[in-house]
Amino acid sequence: GAVVAVKKKKNESPTEHFDIFLKGISHELRNPLSGMKASAKLMLTLKIFDEELLEVILSEIERIERFLDRISKSFDFTSLEWCKYNVHRLLNDVLKTFKTVFEEKKIEIDRRFDPSLPEVYMDKDRMFQVLSNLIKNSIEALEKSKIRKITIETGYAIQPKGFYFIKIKDTGSGMEKEDLENLFTPFFTKGKEKGTGLGMYISKEIVSNHGGKIEVQSEKGKGTTVSIYLPIGDLKNNGKNFNS
Ligand code: ADP
Repeated sequence: GAVVAVKKKKNESPTEHFDIFLKGISHELRNPLSGMKASAKLMLTLKIFDEELLEVILSEIERIERFLDRISKSFDFTSLEWCKYNVHRLLNDVLKTFKTVFEEKKIEIDRRFDPSLPEVYMDKDRMFQVLSNLIKNSIEALEKSKIRKITIETGYAIQPKGFYFIKIKDTGSGMEKEDLENLFTPFFTKGKEKGTGLGMYISKEIVSNHGGKIEVQSEKGKGTTVSIYLPIGDLKNNGKNFNS
């Protein structure tokens, strides 16, 4: 069957991994499409009804369908794998993958962690994906900034009760008001060569499936703060939910 080739490069961050994954998807669709195109063209040129060629087209359509089934399963954010994990350990795990980037780009990282936060239930791979998306966005927004700083703050939310927060604040380019409104729209991307426009959309889906929410404040030319609010309790038993 069709396989998406994901080749691992050196120093590759999870979000770059995702870009490669998307390229793999296009590649995987292009092959059956070109077979279908050639068969259809041949029938048109020869003005014939050819059963064999039609069968090629049908089986290629079915191949695409099977492939898309697999893709949509991996885009299913509702089936989370819960585990108890330390938020700060997760943040440090994510920051570690960007260590060389921070050094190269002279980006200062300010950790303002509230040490009294307890371990929480989460799908740690998906939350890793969220934090990695956000930090990658901050790094990219810092490209032209003189002050290059990312502040990561954690703590207990005052409102609503029973929630903790993770704030990622950068001194980057910031966003215009209208871009801020489109931020969570799938495929909205601006000012990037290789943007997919899926990072914020996917992050919002994952956070909301954890019973939390994302808020973004941004000022053009000043910077951006992304705040994630998540329930402290076991979501399945006593966690409160923004969606309910
Ligand atoms: P992508 O990064 O692939 O473009 P995202 O969904 O992660 O997709 O982000 C969408 C767009 O929102 C980005 O292209 C960028 O213009 C803007 N954006 C996201 N985060 C920030 C940030 N921290 N600072 C400035 N702009 C941002």
